[in-house]
Amino acid sequence: MPENKVIQYDVAIIGAGPAGCSCALALRNAGLKVVLLDKAAFPRDKVCGDAIPGRAVKTLKSINPDFENAFKQFPNKCETRKTSLFYKGRSVTFHWVREAYTCTRMEFDNFLFSLVKSHTNTDVHTSTIAETFTANDNGFSISIKNSGTVINTKLLIGADGAHSLVAKQLANRTLDRNHHVGSVRAYFTNVADTDNHATEIYFDKQFLPSYLWVFPLPCNTANVGFGMLSSEIARKKINIKNTFYSFIENNPQLKLKFKGAIQQGDLEGFGLPLGSKMGIMSGCRFMLTGDAASLIDPVSGDGIGNAMLSGKLAAEQAIRCFKDNNFTAPYMKEYDSNLLQAIGKELKTHYSAQRTLSQMPFLLDIIFFACKNKALKGMIQKML
Ligand SMILES: Cc1cc2nc3c(=O)[nH]c(=O)nc-3n(C[C@H](O)[C@H](O)[C@H](O)COP(=O)(O)OP(=O)(O)OC[C@H]3O[C@@H](n4cnc5c(N)ncnc54)[C@H](O)[C@@H]3O)c2cc1C
Repeated sequence: MPENKVIQYDVAIIGAGPAGCSCALALRNAGLKVVLLDKAAFPRDKVCGDAIPGRAVKTLKSINPDFENAFKQFPNKCETRKTSLFYKGRSVTFHWVREAYTCTRMEFDNFLFSLVKSHTNTDVHTSTIAETFTANDNGFSISIKNSGTVINTKLLIGADGAHSLVAKQLANRTLDRNHHVGSVRAYFTNVADTDNHATEIYFDKQFLPSYLWVFPLPCNTANVGFGMLSSEIARKKINIKNTFYSFIENNPQLKLKFKGAIQQGDLEGFGLPLGSKMGIMSGCRFMLTGDAASLIDPVSGDGIGNAMLSGKLAAEQAIRCFKDNNFTAPYMKEYDSNLLQAIGKELKTHYSAQRTLSQMPFLLDIIFFACKNKALKGMIQKML
């Protein structure tokens, strides 16, 4: 990034994760001058379960089928076709129709980032921290940390993740612990009995509806993690890192599974802003996408698919704004309504399921019992 310069753009995207990269990819033929900024140097890691949901692949395809094909050729991933749930020594397996994958975020996000660099005219700046966003008559002035450079943009897209500065400064976003999950994850090798096509979810009566996940990755590696509603962590004064290890130690199936397992690297923590409470998503000359807009599924914890979809929808709204020369807050609401139409009902249903299970944990016993019946199991699978 050049020093002491003022640079003018049509669209500035803050954050090159799945939301920001999808937005840049979807703007590739719009004829707009676009800049994508990220504070990290790529490839960069992001604490995650590394499950790439079907919606992520579908969104990539809708942006350009060639991008989806490129991902299908991408070697460092597992195709996951089923999920096994474990509770009180029992298990039930659901087989999925929609394709899904696991792939480390280091690899997946760098794949998306490389697509932006090779298939768009976007100006990309990494190791660049956007610090303040000041509204002016023609958009926003963005100041870059430790640099005299100012970026002026007609339209600002906040894709800067769970700790979004754009959301804090423009939408007064604060952390709501009732709609936020505190989570930890670590990589392990040598976890016994893992199937490269199956994700595994372990419940414990003490922590319902929270769960511990074991997601397979290439090279005999698994992504293992645990998350809990932040309000519960605070109320019960839980140390989430200790809980992660004691969950494995106290669950007979997991204890056996992890007997010869070797942890690779640290157990790392990060927050998940849940889509059970979506705040402001847009305003005059700005839109929020992905975690910056709190779009994570309250049951599955999936956020990559919704981040990518919101990035794409924000790009489509940006194109309409420039075509109609209208950047007003009411006009931006079309973005909100398109996003809500696409994922609002699903987020609401899953939030109800999460609440119901936390109030009536015995329902999980009923679900496991009902799954002995093929027809009932089919009905349950449709609700998931
Ligand atoms: C423990 C855990 C497990 C999860 N597991 C899954 C899972 O298995 N599957 C799934 O679908 N989802 C999962 N999620 C959710 C998923 O990680 C997020 O929903 C997803 O990363 C959102 O993408 P994003 O592009 O909005 O944000 P991010 O991926 O966080 O990207 C934001 C980008 O913005 C950059 N940035 C931030 N601030 C600035 C700034 N001021 N200036 C410049 N750049 C900035 C960051 O460096 C980053 O690259 C999990 C989350 C956690 C915490």
